[in-house]
Amino acid sequence: MSKAIRMTRTGGPEVMEYVDVEVGAPAPGEATVRHEAIGVNFIDVYFRTGLYPQPLPAGLGMEGAGVVEAVGEGVTEVKVGDRVAYAGRPNGSYAQVRNMPSAQLLVLPDKIDFETGAAMMLQGLTVQYLLHRTVALKAGDTVLFHAAAGGVGLIACQWAKVMGVNLIGTVGSDEKAALAIENGAAHVINYNKENFTERVREITGGQGVSVVYDSIGKDTFFGSLDCLAPLGTMVSFGNASGPVPPFSLSELQSRGSLFVTRPTLMSYAAKREDLEAMAQSLFGVVSSGAVKVPVMQRYNLADVGQAHIDLESRKTTGSSILLP
Ligand code: NDP
Repeated sequence: MSKAIRMTRTGGPEVMEYVDVEVGAPAPGEATVRHEAIGVNFIDVYFRTGLYPQPLPAGLGMEGAGVVEAVGEGVTEVKVGDRVAYAGRPNGSYAQVRNMPSAQLLVLPDKIDFETGAAMMLQGLTVQYLLHRTVALKAGDTVLFHAAAGGVGLIACQWAKVMGVNLIGTVGSDEKAALAIENGAAHVINYNKENFTERVREITGGQGVSVVYDSIGKDTFFGSLDCLAPLGTMVSFGNASGPVPPFSLSELQSRGSLFVTRPTLMSYAAKREDLEAMAQSLFGVVSSGAVKVPVMQRYNLADVGQAHIDLESRKTTGSSILLP
Protein backbone atom coordinates (compact mmCIF):
# COMPACT_ATOMS: atom_id res chain seq x y z
CA MET A 1 0.00 0.00 0.00
CA SER A 2 1.08 3.61 -0.56
CA LYS A 3 -0.33 7.01 0.24
CA ALA A 4 -0.97 8.77 -3.07
CA ILE A 5 -2.92 11.59 -4.70
CA ARG A 6 -5.80 10.55 -6.92
CA MET A 7 -8.39 12.62 -8.79
CA THR A 8 -11.78 11.43 -10.03
CA ARG A 9 -12.72 14.78 -11.60
CA THR A 10 -10.93 17.91 -12.86
CA GLY A 11 -11.11 21.27 -11.09
CA GLY A 12 -9.48 23.26 -8.28
CA PRO A 13 -6.88 21.98 -5.79
CA GLU A 14 -9.69 20.26 -3.83
CA VAL A 15 -10.02 17.53 -6.49
CA MET A 16 -6.67 16.08 -5.37
CA GLU A 17 -7.50 13.39 -2.79
CA TYR A 18 -4.90 11.90 -0.43
CA VAL A 19 -5.75 8.20 -0.38
CA ASP A 20 -4.32 4.69 0.12
CA VAL A 21 -3.57 2.83 -3.10
CA GLU A 22 -2.43 -0.71 -3.84
CA VAL A 23 0.88 -0.60 -5.72
CA GLY A 24 1.34 -4.25 -6.70
CA ALA A 25 4.33 -5.92 -8.32
CA PRO A 26 5.96 -4.10 -11.25
CA ALA A 27 4.75 -5.25 -14.69
CA PRO A 28 7.28 -6.22 -17.38
CA GLY A 29 9.32 -3.11 -18.26
CA GLU A 30 8.48 -1.37 -14.97
CA ALA A 31 10.35 -0.68 -11.75
CA THR A 32 8.92 0.07 -8.30
CA VAL A 33 10.30 3.36 -6.96
CA ARG A 34 10.01 4.47 -3.32
CA HIS A 35 10.13 8.27 -3.52
CA GLU A 36 12.34 10.38 -1.27
CA ALA A 37 11.14 13.60 -2.93
CA ILE A 38 8.60 14.53 -5.61
CA GLY A 39 8.68 17.48 -8.03
CA VAL A 40 5.76 19.91 -8.43
CA ASN A 41 5.38 21.49 -11.86
CA PHE A 42 3.01 23.86 -13.57
CA ILE A 43 2.05 21.09 -16.02
CA ASP A 44 0.44 19.29 -13.03
CA VAL A 45 -1.97 22.23 -12.78
CA TYR A 46 -2.92 21.82 -16.46
CA PHE A 47 -3.77 18.14 -15.85
CA ARG A 48 -5.64 18.94 -12.63
CA THR A 49 -7.83 21.61 -14.27
CA GLY A 50 -8.41 19.53 -17.41
CA LEU A 51 -6.62 21.95 -19.77
CA TYR A 52 -4.58 18.83 -20.66
CA PRO A 53 -7.15 15.99 -20.67
CA GLN A 54 -6.46 12.49 -19.30
CA PRO A 55 -8.74 9.51 -18.56
CA LEU A 56 -10.12 9.55 -14.97
CA PRO A 57 -9.66 8.43 -12.25
CA ALA A 58 -5.98 9.32 -12.45
CA GLY A 59 -2.84 10.03 -10.49
CA LEU A 60 -0.97 13.31 -10.82
CA GLY A 61 2.67 14.39 -10.94
CA MET A 62 5.36 13.68 -13.51
CA GLU A 63 8.59 13.83 -11.54
CA GLY A 64 10.27 12.13 -8.61
CA ALA A 65 13.47 10.76 -7.10
CA GLY A 66 13.95 7.74 -4.88
CA VAL A 67 15.19 4.17 -4.61
CA VAL A 68 14.30 1.17 -6.80
CA GLU A 69 12.61 -1.51 -4.65
CA ALA A 70 11.73 -4.08 -7.33
CA VAL A 71 12.04 -4.54 -11.07
CA GLY A 72 9.73 -6.29 -13.54
CA GLU A 73 10.69 -8.71 -16.28
CA GLY A 74 13.03 -7.39 -18.97
CA VAL A 75 14.19 -4.29 -17.08
CA THR A 76 17.76 -3.38 -18.05
CA GLU A 77 18.09 0.31 -17.20
CA VAL A 78 18.07 0.04 -13.38
CA LYS A 79 18.43 -2.53 -10.59
CA VAL A 80 17.13 -2.91 -7.03
CA GLY A 81 18.82 -0.41 -4.71
CA ASP A 82 19.65 2.17 -7.40
CA ARG A 83 19.10 5.83 -6.59
CA VAL A 84 17.00 7.12 -9.50
CA ALA A 85 15.16 10.18 -10.75
CA TYR A 86 12.75 10.73 -13.62
CA ALA A 87 10.38 13.08 -15.42
CA GLY A 88 7.67 11.50 -17.50
CA ARG A 89 4.29 9.88 -17.99
CA PRO A 90 2.07 8.27 -16.90
CA ASN A 91 1.09 10.81 -14.24
CA GLY A 92 1.35 9.47 -10.70
CA SER A 93 4.50 10.69 -8.97
CA TYR A 94 2.44 12.29 -6.18
CA ALA A 95 2.81 9.06 -4.17
CA GLN A 96 5.08 7.41 -1.62
CA VAL A 97 5.65 4.41 -3.90
CA ARG A 98 4.78 3.79 -7.55
CA ASN A 99 5.55 1.62 -10.55
CA MET A 100 7.19 3.49 -13.41
CA PRO A 101 8.31 2.45 -16.92
CA SER A 102 12.02 1.76 -16.44
CA ALA A 103 12.90 3.34 -19.81
CA GLN A 104 12.23 6.71 -18.16
CA LEU A 105 14.39 6.17 -15.08
CA LEU A 106 17.91 7.54 -14.78
CA VAL A 107 20.46 6.57 -12.16
CA LEU A 108 21.23 9.66 -10.11
CA PRO A 109 24.92 10.54 -9.68
CA ASP A 110 26.07 10.18 -6.03
CA LYS A 111 26.80 13.91 -5.88
CA ILE A 112 23.15 14.84 -6.52
CA ASP A 113 20.79 14.52 -3.55
CA PHE A 114 17.18 13.34 -3.83
CA GLU A 115 15.61 16.78 -3.34
CA THR A 116 17.69 18.24 -6.15
CA GLY A 117 17.00 15.16 -8.27
CA ALA A 118 13.24 15.50 -7.80
CA ALA A 119 13.28 19.24 -8.47
CA MET A 120 15.55 19.29 -11.50
CA MET A 121 14.43 16.56 -13.88
CA LEU A 122 11.42 18.11 -15.60
CA GLN A 123 12.55 21.71 -15.35
CA GLY A 124 16.26 21.01 -15.98
CA LEU A 125 15.75 18.68 -18.94
CA THR A 126 13.40 21.29 -20.38
CA VAL A 127 16.03 24.02 -20.12
CA GLN A 128 18.56 21.60 -21.64
CA TYR A 129 16.55 21.07 -24.82
CA LEU A 130 15.28 24.67 -25.03
CA LEU A 131 18.76 26.23 -24.98
CA HIS A 132 20.68 23.49 -26.81
CA ARG A 133 18.27 21.88 -29.25
CA THR A 134 15.12 23.91 -29.97
CA VAL A 135 17.59 26.61 -30.94
CA ALA A 136 21.31 25.84 -30.55
CA LEU A 137 22.24 29.06 -28.74
CA LYS A 138 25.80 30.32 -28.83
CA ALA A 139 27.81 32.77 -26.74
CA GLY A 140 26.80 36.35 -27.44
CA ASP A 141 23.17 35.55 -28.39
CA THR A 142 20.52 37.67 -26.70
CA VAL A 143 17.21 36.00 -25.78
CA LEU A 144 14.06 36.87 -23.85
CA PHE A 145 12.92 34.36 -21.21
CA HIS A 146 9.56 34.91 -19.48
CA ALA A 147 8.87 33.91 -15.84
CA ALA A 148 12.61 34.04 -15.17
CA ALA A 149 12.27 33.59 -11.38
CA GLY A 150 10.17 30.40 -11.65
CA GLY A 151 11.35 26.79 -11.56
CA VAL A 152 12.30 26.55 -15.23
CA GLY A 153 13.29 30.23 -15.21
CA LEU A 154 15.99 30.20 -12.51
CA ILE A 155 17.65 27.17 -14.08
CA ALA A 156 17.54 28.91 -17.48
CA CYS A 157 19.12 32.09 -16.04
CA GLN A 158 22.07 30.09 -14.69
CA TRP A 159 22.53 27.82 -17.69
CA ALA A 160 22.36 30.72 -20.17
CA LYS A 161 25.07 32.52 -18.17
CA VAL A 162 27.30 29.43 -18.33
CA MET A 163 26.84 29.42 -22.13
CA GLY A 164 27.65 33.13 -22.47
CA VAL A 165 24.09 33.89 -23.59
CA ASN A 166 22.59 37.25 -22.58
CA LEU A 167 19.26 36.38 -21.03
CA ILE A 168 16.69 39.12 -20.59
CA GLY A 169 14.20 37.81 -18.02
CA THR A 170 10.67 38.94 -17.21
CA VAL A 171 9.19 38.63 -13.71
CA GLY A 172 6.13 39.73 -11.77
CA SER A 173 7.74 41.51 -8.78
CA ASP A 174 10.87 43.38 -7.71
CA GLU A 175 11.86 40.54 -5.33
CA LYS A 176 11.70 38.11 -8.24
CA ALA A 177 13.75 40.55 -10.33
CA ALA A 178 16.56 40.51 -7.76
CA LEU A 179 16.48 36.70 -7.70
CA ALA A 180 16.73 36.42 -11.50
CA ILE A 181 19.74 38.75 -11.54
CA GLU A 182 21.41 36.78 -8.70
CA ASN A 183 20.95 33.65 -10.81
CA GLY A 184 22.63 35.11 -13.88
CA ALA A 185 20.06 37.05 -15.92
CA ALA A 186 21.79 39.87 -17.81
CA HIS A 187 18.70 42.13 -17.60
CA VAL A 188 15.35 41.80 -15.94
CA ILE A 189 11.98 43.43 -16.62
CA ASN A 190 9.10 43.55 -14.15
CA TYR A 191 6.24 43.13 -16.63
CA ASN A 192 3.68 44.20 -14.05
CA LYS A 193 5.30 47.64 -13.98
CA GLU A 194 6.88 48.06 -17.41
CA ASN A 195 5.91 47.33 -21.02
CA PHE A 196 8.23 44.41 -21.71
CA THR A 197 8.19 44.89 -25.50
CA GLU A 198 9.36 48.49 -25.23
CA ARG A 199 12.02 47.57 -22.67
CA VAL A 200 13.38 44.75 -24.85
CA ARG A 201 13.68 47.18 -27.77
CA GLU A 202 15.53 49.67 -25.52
CA ILE A 203 17.88 47.04 -24.08
CA THR A 204 18.74 45.70 -27.56
CA GLY A 205 19.20 49.15 -29.15
CA GLY A 206 16.08 48.61 -31.26
CA GLN A 207 17.30 45.30 -32.72
CA GLY A 208 15.09 42.86 -30.85
CA VAL A 209 16.15 39.39 -29.68
CA SER A 210 16.84 36.27 -31.74
CA VAL A 211 14.73 33.95 -29.57
CA VAL A 212 11.81 34.40 -27.16
CA TYR A 213 11.01 31.60 -24.68
CA ASP A 214 7.37 32.13 -23.71
CA SER A 215 5.68 29.88 -21.13
CA ILE A 216 3.03 32.45 -20.21
CA GLY A 217 0.91 31.95 -23.33
CA LYS A 218 -2.25 34.01 -23.81
CA ASP A 219 -1.15 37.20 -22.00
CA THR A 220 2.28 37.58 -23.62
CA PHE A 221 2.24 35.84 -27.01
CA PHE A 222 1.80 38.82 -29.34
CA GLY A 223 3.99 41.11 -27.22
CA SER A 224 6.64 38.42 -27.43
CA LEU A 225 6.43 38.34 -31.25
CA ASP A 226 7.05 42.10 -31.16
CA CYS A 227 10.34 41.51 -29.30
CA LEU A 228 11.84 39.38 -32.07
CA ALA A 229 14.37 40.51 -34.65
CA PRO A 230 13.53 39.49 -38.26
CA LEU A 231 13.99 35.73 -38.77
CA GLY A 232 13.77 35.28 -35.01
CA THR A 233 12.25 32.24 -33.30
CA MET A 234 9.27 32.21 -30.97
CA VAL A 235 9.42 29.22 -28.62
CA SER A 236 5.95 28.93 -27.06
CA PHE A 237 6.42 26.24 -24.43
CA GLY A 238 3.66 26.79 -21.87
CA ASN A 239 0.36 28.42 -20.99
CA ALA A 240 0.49 29.67 -17.40
CA SER A 241 -2.01 32.47 -18.26
CA GLY A 242 -4.09 30.31 -20.63
CA PRO A 243 -3.59 28.85 -24.12
CA VAL A 244 -2.47 30.98 -27.07
CA PRO A 245 -5.51 31.76 -29.27
CA PRO A 246 -5.47 30.79 -32.96
CA PHE A 247 -3.65 33.38 -35.08
CA SER A 248 -2.97 34.17 -38.73
CA LEU A 249 0.37 33.29 -40.32
CA SER A 250 0.50 36.87 -41.61
CA GLU A 251 1.48 37.84 -38.01
CA LEU A 252 4.80 36.09 -38.70
CA GLN A 253 5.21 37.57 -42.17
CA SER A 254 4.55 41.17 -41.10
CA ARG A 255 7.14 40.98 -38.31
CA GLY A 256 9.89 39.71 -40.61
CA SER A 257 9.74 36.00 -41.51
CA LEU A 258 9.49 34.74 -37.94
CA PHE A 259 9.58 31.07 -36.90
CA VAL A 260 7.27 29.62 -34.24
CA THR A 261 7.55 26.29 -32.45
CA ARG A 262 5.48 24.67 -29.68
CA PRO A 263 7.85 22.09 -28.14
CA THR A 264 7.32 19.55 -25.36
CA LEU A 265 9.90 17.70 -23.27
CA MET A 266 8.15 14.42 -24.03
CA SER A 267 8.88 14.67 -27.75
CA TYR A 268 12.52 15.74 -27.24
CA ALA A 269 13.12 12.91 -24.74
CA ALA A 270 11.06 10.21 -26.46
CA LYS A 271 14.08 8.12 -27.51
CA ARG A 272 16.11 6.61 -24.66
CA GLU A 273 19.38 7.73 -26.29
CA ASP A 274 18.17 11.34 -26.41
CA LEU A 275 16.95 11.18 -22.81
CA GLU A 276 20.32 9.83 -21.66
CA ALA A 277 22.26 12.49 -23.58
CA MET A 278 20.06 15.27 -22.16
CA ALA A 279 20.39 13.84 -18.64
CA GLN A 280 24.19 13.63 -18.92
CA SER A 281 24.26 17.27 -19.94
CA LEU A 282 22.02 18.25 -16.99
CA PHE A 283 23.85 16.03 -14.47
CA GLY A 284 27.12 17.58 -15.66
CA VAL A 285 26.19 21.20 -14.99
CA VAL A 286 24.49 20.33 -11.68
CA SER A 287 27.31 18.06 -10.41
CA SER A 288 29.94 20.68 -11.25
CA GLY A 289 27.98 23.35 -9.37
CA ALA A 290 27.64 25.51 -12.50
CA VAL A 291 23.84 25.27 -12.15
CA LYS A 292 22.30 25.11 -8.67
CA VAL A 293 18.69 23.92 -8.58
CA PRO A 294 16.94 26.23 -6.14
CA VAL A 295 14.42 24.24 -4.08
CA MET A 296 12.53 27.16 -2.57
CA GLN A 297 9.31 25.47 -1.35
CA ARG A 298 8.83 22.15 0.46
CA TYR A 299 5.44 20.62 1.38
CA ASN A 300 4.27 17.30 2.78
CA LEU A 301 2.63 15.12 0.15
CA ALA A 302 -0.69 15.47 1.99
CA ASP A 303 -0.46 19.27 1.59
CA VAL A 304 -0.16 19.23 -2.19
CA GLY A 305 -3.28 21.44 -2.42
CA GLN A 306 -1.32 24.29 -0.84
CA ALA A 307 1.57 23.70 -3.24
CA HIS A 308 -0.80 24.17 -6.19
CA ILE A 309 -2.45 27.24 -4.65
CA ASP A 310 0.96 28.88 -4.15
CA LEU A 311 2.17 27.99 -7.66
CA GLU A 312 -0.97 29.23 -9.39
CA SER A 313 -1.11 32.45 -7.37
CA ARG A 314 2.48 33.28 -8.45
CA LYS A 315 3.74 33.16 -4.84
CA THR A 316 6.52 30.66 -5.53
CA THR A 317 10.03 31.17 -6.84
CA GLY A 318 12.38 28.48 -8.11
CA SER A 319 11.33 24.85 -7.67
CA SER A 320 8.81 23.22 -5.31
CA ILE A 321 8.92 19.68 -3.98
CA LEU A 322 6.70 17.35 -1.96
CA LEU A 323 8.08 15.13 0.80
CA PRO A 324 6.41 11.74 1.09
P1 NDP B 1 6.91 28.48 -12.62
O1 NDP B 1 7.62 28.24 -11.36
O2 NDP B 1 7.63 29.23 -13.70
O3 NDP B 1 5.53 29.17 -12.30
C1 NDP B 1 4.81 29.84 -13.29
C2 NDP B 1 5.16 31.34 -13.31
O4 NDP B 1 4.52 31.91 -14.45
C3 NDP B 1 4.63 32.11 -12.13
O5 NDP B 1 5.47 32.07 -11.00
C4 NDP B 1 4.52 33.51 -12.69
O6 NDP B 1 5.75 34.22 -12.54
C5 NDP B 1 4.29 33.28 -14.19
N1 NDP B 1 2.93 33.64 -14.59
C6 NDP B 1 2.61 34.63 -15.46
N2 NDP B 1 1.30 34.71 -15.62
C7 NDP B 1 0.74 33.79 -14.81
C8 NDP B 1 -0.60 33.43 -14.53
N3 NDP B 1 -1.65 34.03 -15.12
N4 NDP B 1 -0.83 32.45 -13.63
C9 NDP B 1 0.20 31.83 -13.04
N5 NDP B 1 1.50 32.12 -13.28
C10 NDP B 1 1.77 33.10 -14.16
O7 NDP B 1 6.44 27.06 -13.22
P2 NDP B 1 7.33 25.89 -13.86
O8 NDP B 1 8.75 26.23 -13.73
O9 NDP B 1 6.82 24.60 -13.36
O10 NDP B 1 6.93 25.97 -15.40
C11 NDP B 1 7.13 27.16 -16.14
C12 NDP B 1 6.39 27.05 -17.45
O11 NDP B 1 7.09 26.17 -18.31
C13 NDP B 1 4.95 26.55 -17.35
O12 NDP B 1 4.14 27.28 -18.24
C14 NDP B 1 5.09 25.12 -17.79
O13 NDP B 1 3.90 24.60 -18.30
C15 NDP B 1 6.16 25.24 -18.85
N6 NDP B 1 6.87 23.98 -19.10
C16 NDP B 1 6.86 23.49 -20.38
C17 NDP B 1 7.55 22.36 -20.70
C18 NDP B 1 7.62 21.90 -22.11
O14 NDP B 1 8.41 21.00 -22.43
N7 NDP B 1 6.84 22.46 -23.02
C19 NDP B 1 8.24 21.57 -19.67
C20 NDP B 1 8.28 22.22 -18.36
C21 NDP B 1 7.57 23.37 -18.10
P3 NDP B 1 5.75 35.85 -12.44
O15 NDP B 1 5.01 36.19 -11.18
O16 NDP B 1 7.18 36.20 -12.39
O17 NDP B 1 5.05 36.33 -13.66
